[in-house]
Amino acid sequence: AKKLGRNTCRTYTSEIDTQVSQRLALRRDMQAAIEGRQFELHYQPLVCARSARVTGFEALLRWRHPVHGYVSPGVFIPLAEETGQIVPISEWVLERACRDLSDLRCQGFGELRVAVNLSPLQFQRPGFLDTLSRILASSGLPARCLELELTEGILLEDTELAIERLFALQEMGIGASIDDFGTGYSSLSYLKHLPIGKLKIDRSFVQELASSERDVDIVSGIIAMAHRLGLTVVAEGVENEKQRRILEDQGCDLYQGFLFARPMPLGSLQAFLENGCLA
Ligand code: C2E
Ligand code: CA
Ligand code: CA
Ligand code: CA
Repeated sequence: AKKLGRNTCRTYTSEIDTQVSQRLALRRDMQAAIEGRQFELHYQPLVCARSARVTGFEALLRWRHPVHGYVSPGVFIPLAEETGQIVPISEWVLERACRDLSDLRCQGFGELRVAVNLSPLQFQRPGFLDTLSRILASSGLPARCLELELTEGILLEDTELAIERLFALQEMGIGASIDDFGTGYSSLSYLKHLPIGKLKIDRSFVQELASSERDVDIVSGIIAMAHRLGLTVVAEGVENEKQRRILEDQGCDLYQGFLFARPMPLGSLQAFLENGCLA
């Protein structure tokens, strides 16, 4: 803000000031949220293409802000990543998700899996694997019921460490999935060498499947390649029957999206599973 000769420049500066103060407020509120139990997990089912059965769900974080209502994870997670607040938040997410699934299992809902999104900071922390073991032990959840979703970016940030961690997860029996596949640097070579079980095709490729030949080609290429490498393919953001049909034709294994269910709180998920809500 040195040169304030032009008005445009001044306007720009004050806009940045507003952004900065908003972020500061958000950061302060997030601290209160961590201490005041304002976070919730919602769960979105994954559905098997063949059997139409729910195989598990993804845990999605929700912040119920006392003034602003629900704040999107797309807004507060990147900030929490910057401030380091993601660490206690992520630990809470893992604990909650494992405990919730453990409870569902006790109620006889069978072999379901829960997928938890990992933040880069969380994945790279020295104590990460110990934290995971501790949480699994205290929740009583078998390791095979937990899946961790990583973005391609996490793998490329510190590749050595990522490889070491992924093999350690495999050793522990925890599954790993690549999230938002196709949006990152897509260094396909890593897929061949890493213990990854699932690949989640990003919603941006699914969105226009019904109108874009190109997207159909991309998706069919991803699925063929993934299958050749022995990976299970999930399509994210499936919203309509047309998209589902195309994905089915291409041999997609699992669907996730509003067509089947929106993310929902645990209570609704229980009802959803009880009623076997899928036709
Ligand atoms: P993501 O991991 O790609 O999660 C999928 C997002 O797509 C979710 O948004 C979900 O609500 C949304 N979605 C699912 N099906 C559909 C559909 O059919 N149509 C449309 N339009 N959207 C659909 P959400 O819950 O807002 O989460 C946004 C992102 O925030 C997530 O993207 C993930 O990157 C991050 N996130 C959420 N929870 C956590 C968490 O516990 N830890 C970390 N580190 N990140 C999280
Ligand atoms: Ca995800
Ligand atoms: Ca995703
Ligand atoms: Ca995404």
